[in-house]
Order: sequence, then structure tokens, then C-alpha cells
Amino acid sequence: MPAALEISSLKKTYANGFEALKGIDLNVQEGDFYALLGPNGAGKSTTIGIISSLVSKSSGTVRICGIDIDDDFSRAKKQIGIVPQEFNFNVFENVEDVLIHQAGYYGLSIGLARERAVYYLEKLGIADKQHVQMRTLSGGMKRRLMIARALIHEPRVLILDEPTAGVDIEMRRSMYEFLRKTNEEGRTIILTTHYLEEAEMLCRNVAIINHGKIVTEGTIKDLLRDLNSETFLLDTQDVLPPGIEVPGFALRQVEPRCLEFDLAKGQDLTQVFTALSSAGVTVVSMRNKENRLERMFVNILEGSS
Ligand code: ADP
Ligand code: MG
Repeated sequence: MPAALEISSLKKTYANGFEALKGIDLNVQEGDFYALLGPNGAGKSTTIGIISSLVSKSSGTVRICGIDIDDDFSRAKKQIGIVPQEFNFNVFENVEDVLIHQAGYYGLSIGLARERAVYYLEKLGIADKQHVQMRTLSGGMKRRLMIARALIHEPRVLILDEPTAGVDIEMRRSMYEFLRKTNEEGRTIILTTHYLEEAEMLCRNVAIINHGKIVTEGTIKDLLRDLNSETFLLDTQDVLPPGIEVPGFALRQVEPRCLEFDLAKGQDLTQVFTALSSAGVTVVSMRNKENRLERMFVNILEGSS
């Protein structure tokens, strides 16, 4: 099965000369729940804009369910539903019409469009808003209507750009629940966020983007484990004897007189010292090795690279 989304060497330089994407690669498998995580200005919306062809790319390729958007965008776009970061409604239109018009773009019959409009409004908990004007909706309701609109043609991939921006906690929770269920039903979900917690709560895989580059990619589990552990270096008086082991710790001898190990949250450092001392090893100093991921997050928060 082709990947739900495959991006390679994607670059974007805006008309003013600003290089927003410096060659990014992404691979999202069908059925995944994936987060593109990064601070403001990282290039998330630019990426989504290119996928939805609202922004023209400078170079690189984008494939959606195996279809290159340069070859056949109209076929590719049927596979995706996009929830943009900014509201882009006509505020005087009524809620049902927003959905029916969208369905029209995809060639759905009016009957089917009505049926799905009712179905998705119900699913998103805004069934009672079917006949009201857009402008009367709260921010959170508008966001949910955008999700309904993105799903009206039942795409295989749902892409949401900062879906919880401006959405209150209570509504956030019900949105998460909806997205989770949609994913369990088999739909691939890709969202952008600048909250690590949001990626943690929802996603299986994550890519971190900063200054138009992918900094790291992998499972959210691995990323969090790396973030929550610290690496220490122990210098010993004498050359280390072979085969020192401490249960629960992976000790690595990096030099004849230096051991490296990771300490996860909740692990007890004294265990290592006790084991070493009973093996007759004298520790002369302990250093903190800089954690690559921690450094990266500090960089991200400081907005440098
Ligand atoms: P994110 O969604 O991750 O916050 P964006 O993709 O919106 O980031 O923006 C990435 C960078 O590109 C930012 O520095 C932003 O100021 C810049 N940018 C976005 N749109 C334009 C544009 N139309 N012209 C010039 N620069 C832009
Ligand atoms: Mg954005």
C-alpha cells in the first residue's frame, strides 16, 4: 500500500526571499496518527498549504496515497480533507450550506450531501446548528464545522493545522475523542501542533520541524523516553574490569576509565554506585552528558536553530 503522505526534498522560498522550507522529507503510513510538531514560524502551515495546493512549492515532491500532486492534483485532493489553521468561511452562509457547497466541489449529489451534512454535524456535536448562520458560531464550533467540511467527501487522509488553537479545554477533549475514533475507523490523521502534550495524547508518530527543517522523527514514545532521560558519564580511578552490570541500566564503556549510562525519571542513581563499589570500582567524578533532544527543545523554545 502506498504511504498516505510522502514528501521529499520539499522546499519553499516565499516571494520576499524568505526560505520557509529547506528541504523536508516526511513519510506517513496509511492508518497512522501523525503529528508535525514545531514552534510558531517553523513551516507547518507552509507544508500544509503546499499539500492542499494553496501555496506553490519551490521544489520537491508531494505524493498523497501514491499520487503525485504535480501529476494529478484533482485525483490527489479527493484523498485528503484539510482543516486549515485560519477560518475561511463566508460568515453569512448558513452551516448546512457550507457543507453542501463543499460536497458540490467533489461532485456529490445534493441528496448525499444533505445526508452526510447531517451525519457529520451530529458526529461533531453541532447538529443543532444546522440552520444557523456561520457568524453566530463560537470559535470552537467553527473549528468543528471545518472538520465536518473536510470530511464531507470521506477522504482517506484528514489533515488538521493546529486544530485546537482557540478551542476551550472541554471542546478540545471532545475533539480529541472524535479524532481518535475516526483514526480507529481506519482514516489516517495528520495534525500540526506546537504542543508536545497534544502530540503525546493523540499521536503515534511525530516529526519535529524547526526553521524549515525536520529535526527528528520517530514514535512519540521514543521521543518522550529520550526527553525524560538524562545521560551521565562516570570517570573511574582505574581501568574498568569487563562485564559490569547493573539491573535496569545499560552501562556503556566509552573509554577505559569512563562509563556512560541513561537515567530515566524515577530510576535510582545510587543503584549504579552501589553496584560499582561492590565490583571494586572507585568513581572519581560524575558528569552530565548533554542530551541531544533536550538541547533541541531548548533551541526550539529559544527560537534558534
Ligand atoms: P508555522 O505554521 O509553523 O507557524 P508558517 O509555515 O506559517 O509556520 O511560516 C513559516 C515561516 O514563513 C514564518 O517565518 C513566516 O513568517 C513565513 N511566511 C509565511 N507565509 C509567508 C509569506 N506569504 N511570505 C513570506 N513569508 C511567509
Ligand atoms: Mg501555522
